[in-house]
Amino acid sequence: MIRSTVARIDLDALIHNFRTIRGYLATARVGTPTRIGTTTPGVIGVVKANAYGHGAAAVALALEQAGADMVACADIEEAILLREAGLRCRVLVFGALSLSALDGIFDHDLTPTLSSPMAARAVQSAAERRGVRVRCHLKIDTGMNRLGFRHDNLDRTMPAIAAAANLEIEAVYTHFATADSPGDEWFAQQQARFDAARARLAAHRIRPRLVHAANSAATLSAPGTWFDLVRPGLLMYGVSPGGLEHGLTLKPVMSLHSRVVAVKGVRRGEITGYGGRFTADRPTTIAIVPAGYADGLDARLAGRGHVLIRGRLAPIVGSVCMDMILVDVTGTVVEPGDAVTIIGQQGEGSIGVAEMARAIGTIPYELLCRVGTRIERIYNRESQSR
Ligand SMILES: *Cc1c(COP(=O)(O)O)cnc(C)c1O
Repeated sequence: MIRSTVARIDLDALIHNFRTIRGYLATARVGTPTRIGTTTPGVIGVVKANAYGHGAAAVALALEQAGADMVACADIEEAILLREAGLRCRVLVFGALSLSALDGIFDHDLTPTLSSPMAARAVQSAAERRGVRVRCHLKIDTGMNRLGFRHDNLDRTMPAIAAAANLEIEAVYTHFATADSPGDEWFAQQQARFDAARARLAAHRIRPRLVHAANSAATLSAPGTWFDLVRPGLLMYGVSPGGLEHGLTLKPVMSLHSRVVAVKGVRRGEITGYGGRFTADRPTTIAIVPAGYADGLDARLAGRGHVLIRGRLAPIVGSVCMDMILVDVTGTVVEPGDAVTIIGQQGEGSIGVAEMARAIGTIPYELLCRVGTRIERIYNRESQSR
């Protein structure tokens, strides 16, 4: 049995987007003055948070097959799930390392991020105990003030890294806070600090083979940040960060669908839903759709969002319930069983996740990640539907 609310995950669209991004990297706009590398950058496919809600195992396996250089996830626990699903490609762990899970790095051949002296010590001593050298990526905090070695303190922190015999610093990276506003002065400052930080590493004889920095936004807007690898997440899923304009033909990977379970006539002056936040100002037809906030639909969609039924936009009214939404379909002939599109295309109509996010004052990342665990993901490639 499959519940009527499902997420369709179009892995062909994912691969199309991945290849489109790679093509764009290969044919960097002529005359881009800030392009640094001479070879085409590789791609680290970001699959943290269950691949932004799309299903980490299926997405990572598809990316591996399409030739991603690495995939990246948030923590060791997420990375282990990928290995258990059969992923063989390199896996970078972005997050702070939970010391209790460190064994996972060695047992599952993961690439940890070193983002603090303490993390580096812990990985060094675990590697030493096992008599192995472990490839690590070193993260520099250039101004986001989240994870990473402070850019202005490297002369204190790097000697210990340089001396750690069991750490192979394969790459150095940073992360941008404001790359989705290309003219932003913090963005420029972070880039300058990252350049200076790499010079300090060299002074301490730390010479990583690889450098990376660009998230989706920087991939789109700042070729000077591409270096050896880029790290797109949202863009691979077919959504532009911060609504940045681009000339790429990306396809949304996730769409969200349901079916009408009941249709109800409401008289003028009556209410519908908890709190009576919707009062019918005319005879109104309400369709009931079995997807609610327990499925990840944001409560703020009531009065602000729409769904597509019979190819038409129908407003979500009243309040989003735990397991249902109420939709005003007055004037359209709607029957139980009719297809409902919550995100995606239906007939001529379409609802994008970016537009849904804008309607309620949030970001598409949040809406994608929140698509609930009780929603079945249906993949269009048989081999991936594990
Ligand atoms: C999430 C994340 C990315 C990808 O960000 P997008 O905006 O989705 O492209 C890249 N790098 C790091 C360190 C991240 O945490």
